[in-house]
Amino acid sequence: MKTAEIAEMQKQYLMSTYAPGIALVEGAGANVWDADGNEYLDFVSGIAVTNIGHCHPKMVRAVQDQVATLVHVSNLFFNEKQPLLAKAIAERSGLSGAKCFFCNSGAEANEGLIKLARLWGSEHGKYEVITMRQSFHGRTLATLTATGQEKVQKGFGPLPEGFVYANFNDLQSIEDAITSKTAAVLVEALQGEGGVIPAEPEFMSGLRALCDEKGILLLCDEVQCGVGRTGQWFGFQNYDALPDAFSLAKGLGNGFPIGAIVAGEKLSGIFQPGHHATTFGGTPLACAAALSVINVIEEDQLLANTMMMGAYFIEGLCAIALKHKKWIAQVRGLGLLLGLVLDVPSLALQKKLQEKGLLTIATAGNVLRLLPPLNVTQDEIDQALKLIGEACVELHDEMAAQSPNPCQCGMGE
Ligand SMILES: *Cc1c(COP(=O)(O)O)cnc(C)c1O
Repeated sequence: MKTAEIAEMQKQYLMSTYAPGIALVEGAGANVWDADGNEYLDFVSGIAVTNIGHCHPKMVRAVQDQVATLVHVSNLFFNEKQPLLAKAIAERSGLSGAKCFFCNSGAEANEGLIKLARLWGSEHGKYEVITMRQSFHGRTLATLTATGQEKVQKGFGPLPEGFVYANFNDLQSIEDAITSKTAAVLVEALQGEGGVIPAEPEFMSGLRALCDEKGILLLCDEVQCGVGRTGQWFGFQNYDALPDAFSLAKGLGNGFPIGAIVAGEKLSGIFQPGHHATTFGGTPLACAAALSVINVIEEDQLLANTMMMGAYFIEGLCAIALKHKKWIAQVRGLGLLLGLVLDVPSLALQKKLQEKGLLTIATAGNVLRLLPPLNVTQDEIDQALKLIGEACVELHDEMAAQSPNPCQCGMGE
């Protein structure tokens, strides 16, 4: 089927929760191809999911072997892939006595994290979770309530109780939100959907100290910034702060659905049989996929590559931003979770780049989010920079032409 036919069929048979423009049919590494034969450089990576690139041969082999051996048994039985994966994650977390629970998505991992915090606090009447404005934690009822953005909540009330909002990178605002009912603070070390906003170092270390002082939990949502994306295994490892527990999903299975809760010693013994469960959590197939992802990141030294290529990409983006100072405000992010912050809506630039063969995401209104795979090459980044540079010049010219008086729109030279 060609794109037009797929789009027509989708319109008839799928709820219109999304608004895609192109249909992708194949991928390899950092490239994807659409149903009409066009090639793209994929700097979306399925929204920080395909971190080791599309169809990495080692993952293909691991999944093919496992799918032909054993796919699913339920958690009524042991399956060796589950403790092997939990060990691999726990050892890299830096949390002492870390243990995992496997589920299937980011929202489900955060739901579990919230349940864990509530169960921990239940003896002392603590159940409130403080989350950040502009955060994103998922689309289930509890996680959309945790998400500090009205637009994802509107129309879905009554919302579950027990969520309180504070300002990201503002320690005082968190301190002000703490009550005798507070069980936990939940943060992203780097807000992804919120506009690619990294936590400030003093904020994270101060938050850890504040949580210790007040006897409450520090939870990190690592769904987007975890699994190597920032150049560390987990986003919080860029900071001087260890959470009591954190959630994972997106990049963990490189596209095979899997999520996880990882808890340090304070929380790892809270869940007892009957407290929490999911049928599909930690199947041999999902765990084999995730194990292959961790092996590839390690064997191919992708954390180092992420740091190196991230620094190189930032340098190139800053050069472009400098040429368009009047409407490109900033380049920010960590590792290969980067944002080009504009003073105008980012959708026009994203669309222009797609036409030129580079896939990116317009986020938070005015941010262009860039998520190459962690094994991206310098050559691929150079290609992307060339396309972004061209698109910015074209956009600049169009914006200047549209304005009756170039001086007024700020686009005139
Ligand atoms: C994507 C995302 C989620 C939700 O994950 P789903 O798998 O879509 O449920 C939660 N938190 C963060 C930080 C995310 O980026």
